[in-house]
Amino acid sequence: MSSTDPVCTPADLACWTFPGTALAVLGHPIGHSLSPAMHNAALAAMARNQERFASWRYFRFDVPPEELPAALDLFHQRGFHGLNLTVPHKVIAFDHVAGIDPAARSIGAVNTLLRTENGWRGFNTDGHGLANGLAESLGASLESADVILLGAGGAARAAAMECLQRHCASLWIANRTAARLDNLLAVLLPAAGNVPLHGFDPQSPPAGLPGGALVINATSAGLHAGDPLPLDLTRLPRPAGVYDMIYNPPATPLLHQAALLGVPHANGLSMLVHQGARALEIWTGARVPVADMMQAAMV
Ligand code: NDP
Repeated sequence: MSSTDPVCTPADLACWTFPGTALAVLGHPIGHSLSPAMHNAALAAMARNQERFASWRYFRFDVPPEELPAALDLFHQRGFHGLNLTVPHKVIAFDHVAGIDPAARSIGAVNTLLRTENGWRGFNTDGHGLANGLAESLGASLESADVILLGAGGAARAAAMECLQRHCASLWIANRTAARLDNLLAVLLPAAGNVPLHGFDPQSPPAGLPGGALVINATSAGLHAGDPLPLDLTRLPRPAGVYDMIYNPPATPLLHQAALLGVPHANGLSMLVHQGARALEIWTGARVPVADMMQAAMV
């Protein structure tokens, strides 16, 4: 899979002349994103059966967080049909959309926006992507699993809500910044029901962490060379599996450590594909064949 699509910026919207149906992913950084390669391959495959998709194209834009609210207005004015939001925009965008899908409302973060006449409607497809990615890559299910989730940003919010909705056995969340962790725990508490919900500092994992847990990294630690481990796996009871949402680079320090310890592990490529397929269904109204989409993007 390649990531050779050009990186655009909001300044490019001043003279935007693309005549077809435009989609885009917005992030900061955005260079790592494989979404354009994946979506454009899927759209090309769909265009072989339905001519209308021949004029659809997916772009990528580097948008700093302080520019996001104005940029969202500009993308709407320029007629974009749909947007994906990645690090660090998912929570920020939540307050700048005209409508929210009920499932995304409880998460407090959006990763997919659909154009409506009055503004953007927000959805969240990350939880669906995670559950399907875990099943596909690790044969793991969130139902009845003890989950140790790393991170408290937009992706972690969706992952945590998916764990609770699927009645995981227990949910342990670690984050570098305590205030952000506390905020997430407060948001999740009403949805936790009987599921034990705990927060902890990744520098001091508590003694009661369960063995055989599913460790899910939803931090961006590992995205850049030299990033620290988000959690030292040797300080936990042996986990059943480690899933890192990061897919580029394909092997993060956390996945290297899991490999050294002989723990089953996988990167986030499978999640990327499944969250992307659901987003494409929202934008196109068409059922997206995930396997074909993946295969086409790998060529
Ligand atoms: P956010 O910016 O919303 O959150 C980032 C999170 O990472 C925060 O919890 C932050 O902690 C933590 N973090 C950042 N740097 C470090 C570090 N050096 N050490 C420890 N923790 C760190 O990002 P998102 O939630 O949108 O995305 C998180 C990651 O998940 C990204 O790498 C993204 O690419 C990936 N992702 C992959 C998907 C897929 O389909 N495979 C889908 C969605 C996301 P703090 O609060 O302390 O700042």
